[in-house]
Amino acid sequence: MRQYALAAAILALSNSALANTIEDTVVNGLNKPAIYYTDIEPHLKKVAKHPSVKLEQIGTSFQGQALNSLKIGTGPIKVMMWSQMHGDENTATAALMDFLSFITADENAQWLKSWRQKISLLIIPMVNPDGAAVQTRYNAQGIDLNRDAKALRTKEGQILMAAANQFKPDFGFNLHDQNAYYGAGKKGKQATISVLAPAYNEAREVNKSRGEAMQFIAHLAKTVETIIPGHLGKYNDSYSYRSFGDTFSEKGIRTILIESGAYPNDPNRQIARKVNRVLYKKTIDSLTSGEWKDARISQYHAIPFNAKDNWVDLLIDDIIVNSELGDYQIDIAINNKGPINNKGPSPVIKELGDISSIRQGYTSLDASSLSFKAGNSFVLNKSLTLTERSYKNILKQGYSCFSGDMNKLKNTSKWPVYACKSIFTSIPSLHAPAAFFLQADGINKYAILGTELINLES
Ligand SMILES: [Zn+2]
Repeated sequence: MRQYALAAAILALSNSALANTIEDTVVNGLNKPAIYYTDIEPHLKKVAKHPSVKLEQIGTSFQGQALNSLKIGTGPIKVMMWSQMHGDENTATAALMDFLSFITADENAQWLKSWRQKISLLIIPMVNPDGAAVQTRYNAQGIDLNRDAKALRTKEGQILMAAANQFKPDFGFNLHDQNAYYGAGKKGKQATISVLAPAYNEAREVNKSRGEAMQFIAHLAKTVETIIPGHLGKYNDSYSYRSFGDTFSEKGIRTILIESGAYPNDPNRQIARKVNRVLYKKTIDSLTSGEWKDARISQYHAIPFNAKDNWVDLLIDDIIVNSELGDYQIDIAINNKGPINNKGPSPVIKELGDISSIRQGYTSLDASSLSFKAGNSFVLNKSLTLTERSYKNILKQGYSCFSGDMNKLKNTSKWPVYACKSIFTSIPSLHAPAAFFLQADGINKYAILGTELINLES
């Protein structure tokens, strides 16, 4: 029995080392919030050594960084996939590197052989390397590449359009990231994956190619539902004249938008990354077999619509506010929309009022037996280094913000620091700094710092 368990363990180990399932194929170094061109370059060079991969530099960005395409296969069904035309939308680029690693793995040679004369695959990872370098949506000229499909004023937009005009894809996969607050339907789970078959005119008609894009999405939706049930949403199809997806749809390309979103406790979106790479392989397998044609457009329409701001980072429900003008109950929502690396402004109160009837919190607290309490100002007159422990001690003494010489403060904790300003009020106020306490019987039970709910009694 014991021997059998050991053998099974060794087998499991060797399987994961081979990584011969797409689910398990993860290239190293990309589980992080931002992906730059220098992160993918070594992977591109590595897969380019494979005899079936043709790597080509197809141009340069405004600032001179390389844009590359990788071509695999020589078949009549043409599939084009491109990612990160918005520089801060990193997830699909990582998934494409995983997929390329899978395609070129020795143990998958038979699989590659099974489709490479049926399909031509063109991958253009990271269309916007300049935007990626500073993690912004825009390119280095401040232009949203995805609103440049008609004017083509950017080099990156011209390169993407030229690639499509030359390659003439049957299927186009437009790969993006969406914010963390969409729900898959009203009060649904987080939309970890959202999809769209973009419209090609204002009337949002469905012709043959758009109908087939819808069928293909309906087919892929089954796979998403298997991996992350309830986390799939669909964008509404209002027509966006300047966008690449809509413009490619006009050209008769079966265009499929995949937006990667958040999942609880998954800051680097590794769940969406996994679902993406599984969908890319599924795409190849389904096009090879033709099984996607069994899917129906009605199944596409059955995918719940994305609900905007369905989620907030922190939701404090039904807290009591004691005010000179009368007591009342209120919900408080706080989002952390600051840029990565915590260099942005610390979070503020996003919304007040009845929030919990239409939104959910990644973190939420029933505060119906707690009351709001503004914190006091900790005056800095000597150097202070905040660790989690020392910060918590300061919070326990009722201080929630700092004044005096802020240069004396060094924060090594994971929590944000707030400077005390006049906007700290005795009642919660909109856009005020998210730094306050929740009290019971006059004792501070919790501190709120940004989107962190800190239990002061633990
Ligand atoms: Zn985008």
